Amino acid sequence: EPVESIIGRLSATVPDYPQPGVVFRDLTPVFADGPALHSIVHALVDPFEGQFDAVAGIEARGFLLAAAGAYAAGTGVVTVRKKGKLPRRVYAEDYSLEYGTATLELHMDDLRPGMRVLILDDVLATGGTLAASARLFERAGVQVAGFGVVLELTGLRGRANLAGRRIRSLVRE
Ligand code: IMP
Repeated sequence: EPVESIIGRLSATVPDYPQPGVVFRDLTPVFADGPALHSIVHALVDPFEGQFDAVAGIEARGFLLAAAGAYAAGTGVVTVRKKGKLPRRVYAEDYSLEYGTATLELHMDDLRPGMRVLILDDVLATGGTLAASARLFERAGVQVAGFGVVLELTGLRGRANLAGRRIRSLVRE
């Protein structure tokens, strides 16, 4: 079964979550299914084979994909976290949310300059989150090999925020 159809069959849609008017796409049932998890992780990582030295995940659902992808590829895994969670020296980048701003952080020495990272998350919406994560790695001298997401919400034009980047999305809607 094609990966796109697996995701369509298993994912859920939740109206008015986390607030009225928002339609939330929930991929946790995809992660909870063994063959589906295997398929999506390989579909995200395999196109970048040989082009990255580590896999990064964005807190929190991106961690699941990144850990599985790194394990499959035999690389290490790196966490991009919400503000205040990492104990040592960090790079910090702000990005805008629908209301207000948020901050992502990366340990300064998790990766060495010259390394290449593949960044994974569950959903690409406006692209603000992935753009901020790319800035974090580039400040650390790390090259962004590309981005992988399970679902891209094309109406929010996230790709415009990520111009010139390689993006693999498994489903676009
Ligand atoms: P962006 O920064 O606007 O691209 O939003 C992407 C971030 O918000 C990702 O970390 C997603 O996990 C989360 N996100 C946005 N919309 C959804 C959704 O409908 N379902 C699940 N996560 C979402």
